[in-house]
Amino acid sequence: MNLILMGLPGAGKGTQAEKIVEKYNIPHISTGDMFRLAIKEGTELGKKAKEFMDQGALVPDEVTIGIVDERLRKDDCQNGFLLDGFPRTIAQAEALQTLLENRHEDIDYVLHVDVPEGNLVERLTGRRICPTCGATYHVMYNPPKVDGVCDKDGSSLIQREDDKAETVKTRLDVNIKQTKPLLDFYQEKGYLVTINGDQEINKVFQDIQAELEK
Ligand SMILES: [Zn+2]
Repeated sequence: MNLILMGLPGAGKGTQAEKIVEKYNIPHISTGDMFRLAIKEGTELGKKAKEFMDQGALVPDEVTIGIVDERLRKDDCQNGFLLDGFPRTIAQAEALQTLLENRHEDIDYVLHVDVPEGNLVERLTGRRICPTCGATYHVMYNPPKVDGVCDKDGSSLIQREDDKAETVKTRLDVNIKQTKPLLDFYQEKGYLVTINGDQEINKVFQDIQAELEK
């Protein structure tokens, strides 16, 4: 089961990833984890990636793809993998395609957890944090007992700058612009499966399972 997971911030991708890897016994491979591992193991590519990261520069595609290649060769990928956060560009998607073809493999599905942008804004802007104890709440999904007040210590809850409507909207728009060409790419190649992410968590997972077991 070779899978790629896509979805905008707030779409519940992380939660679904956990469920998928548990059910299908495949590793969840996020870009960040992959870089950290390569750096920790001190591979040539890991060292190269670290040089760029230490300078605050973007890691070039050839290094990133090399690291993906190394990661997908590991034993835990025998049943497949769930890629999350890679590929990010068409060039990376094409390189992944070549890399898999070279070892006579293919992507099975690209799962797109889809939630309308307006609902994501609602999800992402509803978060409130207690400045004293760090507890997190959500005005709709996990509200405190008293509006705007921490259950644990009575502090006034705050909204992080990152969770304010304008910031959220900008972040989503940037993401939509980045992912649209990839979604089109995988749609054209027939890999894309769109899952309605605007449902209860377990229902979303049921829909994913139904698609994977078709
Ligand atoms: Zn608190």
